[in-house]
Amino acid sequence: MKSLDDLEVAGRTVLVRADFNVPLADGPDGPDDTKVITDDGRIRAALPTLTYLRDKGARIVVVAHLGRPKGVASDALSLQPVADRLSELLDDDVEVADDITGPHAQAMVAALEPGGVVLLENIRFDARETSKVVDERVALATELAALADAYVSDGFGVVHREQASVTDVARLLPCAAGRLVHKEASVFGKLLSDPDRPYVVVLGGSKVSDKLGVIGNLITRVDRLLIGGGMAYTFLAAQGYEVGTSLLEADQIDAVRGFIDQARAKGVELLLPVDVVVADAFAADARTQVVEADAIPVGWMGLDIGPRTRDLFASRIADAGTVVWNGPMGVFEMEPFAGGTLAVAQAMAASAAMTVIGGGDSAAAVRILDVDDTAFTHISTGGGASLEFLEGKNLPGLTVLEENA
Ligand code: ADP
Ligand code: MG
Repeated sequence: MKSLDDLEVAGRTVLVRADFNVPLADGPDGPDDTKVITDDGRIRAALPTLTYLRDKGARIVVVAHLGRPKGVASDALSLQPVADRLSELLDDDVEVADDITGPHAQAMVAALEPGGVVLLENIRFDARETSKVVDERVALATELAALADAYVSDGFGVVHREQASVTDVARLLPCAAGRLVHKEASVFGKLLSDPDRPYVVVLGGSKVSDKLGVIGNLITRVDRLLIGGGMAYTFLAAQGYEVGTSLLEADQIDAVRGFIDQARAKGVELLLPVDVVVADAFAADARTQVVEADAIPVGWMGLDIGPRTRDLFASRIADAGTVVWNGPMGVFEMEPFAGGTLAVAQAMAASAAMTVIGGGDSAAAVRILDVDDTAFTHISTGGGASLEFLEGKNLPGLTVLEENA
């Protein structure tokens, strides 16, 4: 894959696809006030590419989306708050165009100085961006390409999508992967092709059905699979255990039994919780107790892995060569059920292994629980894209960069 260093950018106008899909909240004066960004991690993640291009004297046109406007423009999903934050981070005035490829955007691009940055308005205000009709996407991509001399793909959160500003435009201009996409692709590429062993994957989160593809692909590649979170109860039920009112996907029990058999046949160590924190309600002030995994009382729900499981998982992480973690071990949003997630995060942070976090909520948990995020090798910015990578799927936004290098 061509990297930024291989692309001629000096003095050229470069179109950069970034992922600025940040969480927003109402401003201090309520719903009509300017929105505030509650986590600017994705904007920060774009800075290495943007500062590189700026230092090279490129004219920079950034294209990004925010939320799901479904082809309809609205003030609520304008990229203005992103432009404001980007201006602060770059210490430069970044303006957002009123339109995407229309007269205002064209005039702003034409007026750019070397090193200047302009942000096009939310690309998903144009329904052609996500259209299933190739000609519609290509028409928008052609308008985007007319604004620039080269294209840089740096929105890792969208590389699993076949979209005008992700794949179609890359076929129309000289293109390269930006710093973020390059780093993400090389980390996940190593996980797929050549992980240091023992290769340990920790899976949790709410539902097994969200991650069947990931389990199916990984079960034959890893040395150890540690299962916690809500999905663990379907595994426990598959062993014949009572799971009370815990999250259970009864229709997945057969699939889970298949995974258990596959792990056994391949000699993969599949570890389930040996004890759990159960509660009498889904609430932070519920009554709680720690019970053995095969002794969950009727009417109680498992909301975290127990202390013996935390120690067990930590010991299997400690001597690993590679650890990938996707999905919290419990309902970490409530303090009484955050201990298991914290224990896994701390065990990973302390390990000498290559450590990768590949899930939106798992990454958020690390920040909320105040674990040093510099202690991890890599925290992915793309929840969906990282899952598809772990499923072994082809990511069209990366394939196109290989094909057009
Ligand atoms: P990620 O975004 O990291 O891939 P998921 O979206 O799959 O993770 O799952 C995150 C959610 O799983 C969290 O909101 C968490 O509260 C929930 N969760 C974890 N354990 C349990 C449990 N035992 N019961 C119910 N929900 C759980
Ligand atoms: Mg999630």
